[in-house]
Amino acid sequence: MSEVHVYDMIAVGGGPGGYTAALYAARAGLDTLVLEKLSAGGQMALTEEIDNYPGFEEGIDGFTLAEKMQQQAERFGARSEYAQVESMDLTASPKVLETSEGPFYARTVVLATGANPRELGLPGEAALTGRGVAYCAACDGMRYKGRTVVVVGGGNSAAADAMLLSRIAKKVILVHRRDTLRATKIYHEPLMQAENIEFRWNSVVTELLHADKVTGVKLKDVHTGEETTVPCDGVFISVGRKPATELVQSQVALDRNGYIIADETTKTSLPGVYAVGDVRTKPLRQVVTAVADGATAVHMAEEYLAGGE
Ligand code: NAP
Repeated sequence: MSEVHVYDMIAVGGGPGGYTAALYAARAGLDTLVLEKLSAGGQMALTEEIDNYPGFEEGIDGFTLAEKMQQQAERFGARSEYAQVESMDLTASPKVLETSEGPFYARTVVLATGANPRELGLPGEAALTGRGVAYCAACDGMRYKGRTVVVVGGGNSAAADAMLLSRIAKKVILVHRRDTLRATKIYHEPLMQAENIEFRWNSVVTELLHADKVTGVKLKDVHTGEETTVPCDGVFISVGRKPATELVQSQVALDRNGYIIADETTKTSLPGVYAVGDVRTKPLRQVVTAVADGATAVHMAEEYLAGGE
């Protein structure tokens, strides 16, 4: 093989975990690259207002915070490359990342690929995305100003989406397959008290009704089997996340939900490979825990590069 550029560290994914790893690595003098598909920030960049990341007393929008994280890492010499990673060989030495922009090589790899919204798997769901089907209330909510929307799910995301949409839409119908919310208690009272939020408990969406755009949903009661039709202009699907681990599933150990098994050391089952942010097993997936992971991964990578574990 002719001479190739081998980075000390490549972070795959430019969300808060990836760019914090890049910041710490670059400041530690490591030759560092971030591979990012589109633009910095990952899921964070789609968040309208972040009020629980310390240091921004008035809150900050996710896109701006992402840009700041990228610029801060680049100030210390980290590079960013916009490329789609197509495959990885994480056991090779150096590790190889094949991308849309050609191969990249690294001594250590930080997996920061995050998690994407889970789909319901209904016929027409993909084709109707952007035409009534949405996965992010903060991103697409304004399109439904004064309209009627359905939110599907019962966790924190569905609760937060329903609250946000209730301030924009005329009516919000929350559809959950159980008779109680899984969301933390803090959401329950505001949801119950909002005048324009209706609940359809023990119900699942069985069909998306549409012409060119969504016109309604068909619901089924999970106990009685009774079917009803609910007219609406939009359906926000908030039924959890699926980790972006397809590219590494045969190489690092995953848990049964597909998350990379890594504790707070961020070490994966492969030496020199670390998992940070939403993609790893952890109790709380937030910006603040992702950035902590990024810092820890670099600490561990430095030990590894120095000849340790
Ligand atoms: P989640 O907590 O896993 O909840 C997913 C919800 O969707 C559950 O209520 C689940 O129903 C339902 N569901 C799953 N698959 C479904 C299907 N096929 N059909 C119908 N319903 C389905 O996911 P999340 O709400 O996206 O939250 C993900 C993580 O982000 C959590 O750790 C959460 O705490 C965090 N988060 C935090 C905040 C915050 O304000 N702190 C906001 C957003 C997210 P069952 O209840 O029946 O399982």
